[in-house]
Amino acid sequence: MRFQGLTSALRIFALPLRSHSTTVRRLNRPPLPISGATVLRAAPTIPFLSSFFGSSTKPDPQNDTMSYPDQRSDDAWQAVLSPEQFRILRQKGTERPHTGEYDSHYPSQGVYSCAGCSAPLYKANHKFKSDCGWPAYFDSIPGAVTRHTDSSFGMERTEIVCSNCGGHLGHVFKGEGYPTPTDERHCVNSVSLRFAEDGGEGEGKASI
Ligand SMILES: [Zn+2]
Repeated sequence: MRFQGLTSALRIFALPLRSHSTTVRRLNRPPLPISGATVLRAAPTIPFLSSFFGSSTKPDPQNDTMSYPDQRSDDAWQAVLSPEQFRILRQKGTERPHTGEYDSHYPSQGVYSCAGCSAPLYKANHKFKSDCGWPAYFDSIPGAVTRHTDSSFGMERTEIVCSNCGGHLGHVFKGEGYPTPTDERHCVNSVSLRFAEDGGEGEGKASI
């Protein structure tokens, strides 16, 4: 009995020092005297937790234009992009149809990355021949592309942007009847993309 009591005392003493033991500590809470130090340590976490789980963190695709990981300013983008890349990626422009570098580009392998931030967006085997005048993809690398409703020009379209920098890629259209697995067409400006045959997803980097 005495040995058991000693073990319990040691556990009680040790638990508050471990941040990952919150659940266990809560289970043991009734017999534990709550010290002033514990209250002071716990208090600052309460607002953090309520904001973390509160409704303010609910994803709102219409209002998260400031939440991209790459937060470069327009000045910073202008320093690294060509005027045409800046017009399309950062000002939501569109290249003229049938003029883009990747419009009639059908490699057997490789990755199309964001021309702004280099995030991988599409694999070569996502691309299909649509004859629409711009590169067309039926799917993207998971999570790489974010969708927004675009109500400009009196139409309701779905804009697609790079999930890492918010750079404008083009629009996605659904239900057009193309014989692809998704029946979606990501209509992307070539200017927004940069192709590399050796990928860019980091698979070969371990051998460096
Ligand atoms: Zn990007």
